[in-house]
Amino acid sequence: MSEQPPAVPRPPVAEACRVRVIVDTPQHSGLSGPLDYLSPHPLEAGTLVRVPLGRREVLGIVWDGGGEPGAGGEAPTPESLRAVIEVLDALPPVPRGWRELVDFAASYYQRGLGEVALAALAPELRQINGTQLARRLKRLRSRLSPGAEAPATAERPVPSEDQREVLQALSQSTPRVHLLHGLTGSGKTEVYLRESQRMLDAGRQALVLVPEINLTPQLEARFLERFPGRRVVSLHSGLTPALRLRHWLMALLGEADLVLGTRMAVFAPMPRLGLIVVDEEHDPSYKQQEGARYSARDLAVMRSRIEQIPVLLGSATPSLETWHNALPAAEGGAGRYSRLTLAHRIGGGALPAVRVVDMNRFPAKLLREQPVAPPLMDALRERLARGEQSLVFLNRRGYAPVLQCLECGWKSGCPNCSAWRVFHKQDRSLRCHHCGYTQTVPRACPECGNADIQPVGRGTERLEEQLAQSLLRADGSPARVGRIDADTTRERGKLEATLASVHAGDVDVLVGTQMVAKGHDFRRITLVAAVNSDSALFSSDFRAAERLYALLMQAAGRAGRDARHAGQSEMWVQTWSPQHSLYASLQRHDFPGFARGQLDERRIAGLPPFAHLALVRADARTQDAAQQWLAQASAWGSDLAASLGVVIYPAVPTPIQRVANVERAQMLVESASRPALQRFLAQWMPGLHALRTPRVLRWAVDVDPLAI
Ligand code: ADP
Ligand code: ZN
Ligand code: ZN
Repeated sequence: MSEQPPAVPRPPVAEACRVRVIVDTPQHSGLSGPLDYLSPHPLEAGTLVRVPLGRREVLGIVWDGGGEPGAGGEAPTPESLRAVIEVLDALPPVPRGWRELVDFAASYYQRGLGEVALAALAPELRQINGTQLARRLKRLRSRLSPGAEAPATAERPVPSEDQREVLQALSQSTPRVHLLHGLTGSGKTEVYLRESQRMLDAGRQALVLVPEINLTPQLEARFLERFPGRRVVSLHSGLTPALRLRHWLMALLGEADLVLGTRMAVFAPMPRLGLIVVDEEHDPSYKQQEGARYSARDLAVMRSRIEQIPVLLGSATPSLETWHNALPAAEGGAGRYSRLTLAHRIGGGALPAVRVVDMNRFPAKLLREQPVAPPLMDALRERLARGEQSLVFLNRRGYAPVLQCLECGWKSGCPNCSAWRVFHKQDRSLRCHHCGYTQTVPRACPECGNADIQPVGRGTERLEEQLAQSLLRADGSPARVGRIDADTTRERGKLEATLASVHAGDVDVLVGTQMVAKGHDFRRITLVAAVNSDSALFSSDFRAAERLYALLMQAAGRAGRDARHAGQSEMWVQTWSPQHSLYASLQRHDFPGFARGQLDERRIAGLPPFAHLALVRADARTQDAAQQWLAQASAWGSDLAASLGVVIYPAVPTPIQRVANVERAQMLVESASRPALQRFLAQWMPGLHALRTPRVLRWAVDVDPLAI
């Protein structure tokens, strides 16, 4: 803490020292490094301060070399410097490890240091001054429950044999990155709990990352129950600003023992951090999609290296990058991480048997009229007859993805985007899922006046309707079909209510998008079906197969969680490409085999993890303008790229070229060497900021993009 007053009388301002402070300045302003300010006495690095910036008063963080004279050269003389307004010395400085992480993230993802650092603080901190902060701290301290000394340990299950081996390996290992590979229900969370316990008992803090806010309350309850007397706090975007500040402060003060949160929590300041857990490490939501496009999973790995602590990456279907890193060299991997495996589900429940339905066998007309293929229909009827539940999964919300005129061929395109507008029957609207443009469905074709415009294809709303029409319960009444997707859960509490009715047995068939595939523990579901599973498989995304495999495994994990039904549970997949190797691996539950095939393909194609990518995107009024700017950027970097073994590909339109009347183009930058790519970007980017850029053009770079 920097609360002690300076021992010597403060020197007069003229002799005051120079402190370097980072503030949130736009990267292209040329002010992205620390700025110099005057302070009457030296300030420790990490101290939060309020400083003048232009006419504003902003929050800043004292960076390295506080109190040292500036680096000289052209640095302004102290007389011209402005003074620090206020030192927020009620708080300890943010820890060194945190500053190193922020430094790394800014340089790796090519963003301003101040932008990344200030975004990693609780947003509320910017709004309050030292007096207000002191008041909040006082209130926080008065509310902290006393007597956290000897926490009573709640009931905990005896570890399974698998778990015992994993825990032993962890306790004997030097701090490093561990992949915890285990099916849903194999006891991974129990391992997180035990390892966290070990760290908490040693006086350290633990950080647990989960992909979705939806999952934090469930997990939070589990941690709270396990560690009574310990302080468990959450950090995610669903908290009120005041609560988020409170939890953030508790982390920084070392008062929180365990922080549970979404990707933003990777930046939680924790002075005694001893363990990081990344649950479902393969989940795409760990990647931030705007501003500094960081991967919280990758930053967690870097943070563990900085702090010399272990990190546990848990998944049933690890990302191929992580899998490659955890694969021993003898098996063609990089051998960088340790791989720990939980091979069995707790309670011995078998994984559902996988049935692959070849959709090519059925006439198109039949598939239009029936919600699902006949064999799956029969299987659903069987479950109904037995009073069991089914989950039918379709990753497309709305009634139909497009409306079409049967007379002239008109389709419900979006005037602002290169995309169709989706038909929502509930409010008879046509909605663009990209820009939000919504209209009532026209009575007749806007092109030819024909009244016969038809929905084409099927979304969750239509699937729900068709299933309810064609399925009967044993007593002859219509099947009770529920639906969970972004449309049915917009209202607060709706999701919980539907989940509760599923748990209570008031729903026979649950229709849902990928929202339902994650995390929820459905005891009585014995059949899971993916009805249009490979729609994503033939997109340009090189990760499509990896994504789909993870999604299907995750969906499969929803079935047969109750051991009583375990033997009979099934996963059905409807596909038009049953020969795809993904389905054979899925049927054998052979993730290693699937990963091997995918990694071989990636190696041949020169894709991650065997190549490293950055994507430069430009948005403009016209596609020409966007591509021209990228071409200019490419020309500027071409010699440098060639000298470093980096390839810049030609600019192309993005997969969805126009959104909200903005044309989008992108350009891929690739290298076999990560350091070479980093060196290239570091030298190239300042030039890009200096390029002549039309005022209406926006551009950004995405390092390690999820899709290209
Ligand atoms: P995962 O995180 O891999 O999905 P969990 O840790 O949630 O698995 O475990 C699945 C279920 O089994 C949970 O209900 C959990 O309480 C229970 N469980 C975990 N480990 C054990 C154990 N060793 N003995 C008994 N039950 C266990
Ligand atoms: Zn028409
Ligand atoms: Zn649109």
